[in-house]
Amino acid sequence: MITGDAAYIKKINRSLILEKIIEEGMISRADISKATALTRATVSAQVADLVDEDLIIEAQLEHNSVGRKPIMLSLNAEAGYALGIDVDYGQISFTIADLLGKPVTEKIIEYKNLDYENVLQILIEQINLFNEEFNDNRYGIIGVVIAIHGLVGKDEKIHFVPRFQWRSVQLKEDLEKACKLNIHIENNANMSAFAERAYHHHETNSLLCATIYSGIGLGMIMDNEFFRGNDGFAGEIGHMIVVPHGRPCSCGNKGCWEQYASEIVFLENMKEERNLSSFTYGDLEKLINEGDQEILERLDNYIYYLSIGLNNMINMYNPDTIVLDGEILRLYPDSINKIEEHLTSSISHYRQLSISSFGKKSVTMGACAFAIKHFLDVPMLNLKYQEA
Ligand SMILES: [Zn+2]
Repeated sequence: MITGDAAYIKKINRSLILEKIIEEGMISRADISKATALTRATVSAQVADLVDEDLIIEAQLEHNSVGRKPIMLSLNAEAGYALGIDVDYGQISFTIADLLGKPVTEKIIEYKNLDYENVLQILIEQINLFNEEFNDNRYGIIGVVIAIHGLVGKDEKIHFVPRFQWRSVQLKEDLEKACKLNIHIENNANMSAFAERAYHHHETNSLLCATIYSGIGLGMIMDNEFFRGNDGFAGEIGHMIVVPHGRPCSCGNKGCWEQYASEIVFLENMKEERNLSSFTYGDLEKLINEGDQEILERLDNYIYYLSIGLNNMINMYNPDTIVLDGEILRLYPDSINKIEEHLTSSISHYRQLSISSFGKKSVTMGACAFAIKHFLDVPMLNLKYQEA
């Protein structure tokens, strides 16, 4: 137990107050005191500091009843901006969000040259442009969080990015040298999980988020912290073997889950079966709407394999909330119920299974929210999702 460390206690109190103000949107000093069990004097002293720092603004509520109008406090959303970046294969997405996590600008850059040096130059150029554009406020760009579709260590070093063939690159150091901003490197699945927790699932402190587009990645939040494993590489659940001696996988094993339940493999299989040059989500949607019997059978089979992996995940982690981030599940009617029909084990326990409502934006939104969490130094954020 830590006692007598005044600076530490002050920091904890500050984050309690900030968390409450963000969660409520607008709240009086008296109500903060009630909600946090901090004394009125402590709340007033902390709020004075936060007002001085331009992080909190005061507003007097207009109402007709007699008596003093309470002064309400809210976060100064425009005191600075977070930059979230998703470095995906052939496409880099950027989102700028204010301090309440509301996206204010979005940008996508397509590129072909996957070399590290090329991607680094694109990032430096764009980050510097955003930094110039958003410097007309107290804090400017408060932090940049970059999501990588590969293995990112606890030290934020990029160990391996399979589709880029990047090994041991020091993106954080390279960008900090060139951009003079706080840069953080994270895994993409973790950022999707963080977006779900911060914007949509405030009631849970145990959430799994599986992204199933090109491979299958798992972001895990346990007791409001990421579960990262020994090196930071936990969550490579797509390489869990679900079919012994099954289809070969790029990892060197056979029968990995993502060879059966990732969307890219499903679309690829349909392309080959139907002898087409391409098979897109749009093609799939059309066939579902037409009630194409063969497609519906393939989808049932896809759901079956997806459920096998989910069953294993649930038994391993006993999560409260599981979010699945994939387009096929959004297109296929009633997909959650169809998955749950397969989750019949009397051992598996979870509270809710849902489909992400973000789509691919979850990565940059989670990255922005994570930058805000770092900047405000709070244990968790409960943000309201607002469209750009
Ligand atoms: Zn594999």
